[in-house]
Parts: sequence; structure tokens; C-alpha cells
Amino acid sequence: MSRRKKSFPCGHKGYGKICHRCAQEQTAWERKQQQKNAWEETFNKDPIDLRPFPKNVVLKAREILKGLANQQDYRSFYGKRLRHDRFIISIPVTRHYRLICRDHGSFLTPEAVVSHEDYNVCKPGQ
Ligand SMILES: [Zn+2]
Repeated sequence: MSRRKKSFPCGHKGYGKICHRCAQEQTAWERKQQQKNAWEETFNKDPIDLRPFPKNVVLKAREILKGLANQQDYRSFYGKRLRHDRFIISIPVTRHYRLICRDHGSFLTPEAVVSHEDYNVCKPGQ
């Protein structure tokens, strides 16, 4: 094999059959893709769909969901019953998101995470 530097179709210059710069970029991209897939797979274990939300909201919501699944009181997460529907409990996730749960008497089921705006729209008479 010649040791003469050549130009690859990508525009880089180098030795060998393939462009090592692009090969490296490809590897880095694949690794990133794998991490992304691994992150996406974690959503399969959530009791409610958290995919549409920012990462910090997802992580915080999971902490609360885990606590609730371990019989932790919703009040320890500053959860409140809605005034117009006492069976619905709203737990702040971040400043902008709420976790909505339904009270079945002896247990709670998580229903959804909603943005503060959506949550306000849900209120009757508004
Ligand atoms: Zn290249």
C-alpha cells in the first residue's frame, strides 16, 4: 500500500483505504446513538409516558413515582388534592410540570405528567 497522502471523497486527507477522521466520527456517532437508545429504553419501565418531557422533568417524575410505588405519602412530595375533584392529586414535579394521580382510596395511580399550562386548562370554568 502506498504511503502517499490522498484525498478522500469526504474532503479529508490521509492514508489508507478509509478516512480515519470520518471513521472516528462515525464511531462517536454510533456510541451517542447507543446512549440515546439506552435512554429511550428506560421509558418502557415507566408506569406513565414520560417521553415528551425534558430530562430533568423525567428524572424528577421518576423519583416521585418510585416514592409513591413504595407507599410514600403524596404529601411528602407537596401533592395536593384538586379542589373541584378530590380524587385527583396534583404533585409538583418542577415549577412547570405536575404529576396527576388518581386516588383509589387505598392506593394512588399515576395518570400523567402535564405542563402547568395544560393543567390550568383542565380546570373547569376557565
Ligand atoms: Zn473524512
